[in-house]
Amino acid sequence: MSDTCRSCHQPVLFVPSAKSGKPLILNAEPEKRVVLIDRQHNSVAPAAEHERLRLHDRLAAAVVNAYTDHHATCPKAGQWKGRTRAEVNRVNALHADGDHEAAQEADR
Ligand SMILES: [Zn+2]
Repeated sequence: MSDTCRSCHQPVLFVPSAKSGKPLILNAEPEKRVVLIDRQHNSVAPAAEHERLRLHDRLAAAVVNAYTDHHATCPKAGQWKGRTRAEVNRVNALHADGDHEAAQEADR
């Protein structure tokens, strides 16, 4: 599960999205965040304020380990935009081979 970003070489995790099943790339180190739990259903409370107000007596704050999408912090995320993973990997491979001219050409 543990891996490194091919663009910036920072430790990341590839984990399938619970919603779509597509792999997400996450920063490997989680941060402590707080979620609101609906104690009656033991589930994360809805985000909308009117829903929180309605559930107020049932809410509890729980500290969790939350992970950040690596796209948000990768210093080389600009290389990723509008590209397929294969294209990004090809440019990175050219850089890794020391063929920076070809990499810059492919980067245009
Ligand atoms: Zn990265």
